[in-house]
Amino acid sequence: MTALGDALGAASPWPAALAASLLASALAWRLGALSGDGAVAAVAVGTVVAGAGGWRWAALLLGFVTAASAASALPPRPQAPRRNARQVLANGLVAAVAAGLHGLGVAPAGAVFAAALSAGWADTWATEFGVRYGGRPRRLWGREPLEPGVSGGITTAGTAAGVLAAVCCGGLAGALAIAPTGWTAGAGLVGMLVDSAVGGAVQGHYRCSTCGREGESVRCPCGGRTQRVRGLWWVDNDATNLLATAAAGALGLWGSLPGGLP
Ligand SMILES: [Zn+2]
Repeated sequence: MTALGDALGAASPWPAALAASLLASALAWRLGALSGDGAVAAVAVGTVVAGAGGWRWAALLLGFVTAASAASALPPRPQAPRRNARQVLANGLVAAVAAGLHGLGVAPAGAVFAAALSAGWADTWATEFGVRYGGRPRRLWGREPLEPGVSGGITTAGTAAGVLAAVCCGGLAGALAIAPTGWTAGAGLVGMLVDSAVGGAVQGHYRCSTCGREGESVRCPCGGRTQRVRGLWWVDNDATNLLATAAAGALGLWGSLPGGLP
């Protein structure tokens, strides 16, 4: 063993986890994928996942983040807005809590971790591919057309991308021996459906009285005044994502319990 190898081998995984998370988050910030507070949140999530879960868990997280960032950079709209801390935590909080529990010795935490990432991955790909190649989305139930990118809408291209994402995450989770492939993929798909259902049914939607644009943000890009047309004001897109990843995590937990489904 070299002196460097000895030094790395003797080091606690936590400083290494922090260093790797700092490096990855700084790179994502430099590439325009994260805002300043988004990078801070990413360092926190990455450090907990790598430190408490280990490098295999960090690899699954890195797979999700890389796949999500790559989808955001796809043509014809490669200029994706930077993800802020709320968006990072909406997709990463359940996974980070699961990693923390794993570090404390809670056995089924791997299934929760993988399922939460699977839901985030599926929802991200469904949104990114659906907005670009899906045409006009429709509600999960009914045939009412919606504005592209608005929560609660689904497209064929987006749904197909979401299924592929859940299968990718399941395959990676299985290959890394974190959680079963089938359960992880299935829980991710359910999470994606929960996201569409909650996004369409209870998430706040607003219409701008100046330009008429309808969306899920209180602030219109034109700067005009908006009015809530439906949904709850305190359920925004981040709350919807958090709920969807939590639902997927719960399903992953159920599947991993001895009394759960086979
Ligand atoms: Zn407007």
